[in-house]
Amino acid sequence: MSPPPLSICVFCGARPGHDARHVPVARDLGARIAARGWRLVYGAGDIGLMGEVARAAQGAGGDVFGVIPTHLMQAEQVREDVGRLVVTDTMHERKMLMFTNSDAVVVLPGGAGTLDEFFEVLTWRQIGLHDKPIYLLDSEGYWQPLIALVEHVIAQGFASPSLRALFQPVADLDALETALAP
Ligand code: AMP
Repeated sequence: MSPPPLSICVFCGARPGHDARHVPVARDLGARIAARGWRLVYGAGDIGLMGEVARAAQGAGGDVFGVIPTHLMQAEQVREDVGRLVVTDTMHERKMLMFTNSDAVVVLPGGAGTLDEFFEVLTWRQIGLHDKPIYLLDSEGYWQPLIALVEHVIAQGFASPSLRALFQPVADLDALETALAP
């Protein structure tokens, strides 16, 4: 019997960033999620890397679940035609709903919002609230400074070395797919 389809929560930039190499990675992630028959759970916007992931997933026939707070519907150009769209009152509800409807979290390059989302699910895991895998997709080494910061925090005694095991950097999409479905 084949395993049930996974729901993959993708946190990523609402901008494309300066390095154009992240865009095809975002598109490829969306296409691979669709090709596997998995569901994309994301922030429902049509801008930046988040728009790229969603358009690619939908273009490949994938199921997409978007969650957006009312006050960002215009700024993030909500994609109304996703498989399921939930509009929340707050950012906290958005984050919680995305997370509770997912089996795993993938973090693509992004800015402060993406960092907030990463640290939220990481710290939830640190205090034992869940055990869902969290993958940092290290596209073009984008997350190396973040990984170095985590090492610094551990070296300085502000986190247990066990923090390292609570998220997994993956170098590329092949490594991510293998980790998600060995
Ligand atoms: P950024 O990485 O700053 O481009 O933001 C990526 C996404 O994170 C955007 O859709 C933001 O709206 C979202 N975001 C920013 N802060 C939060 C938050 N506190 N909770 C949930 N989503 C957020």
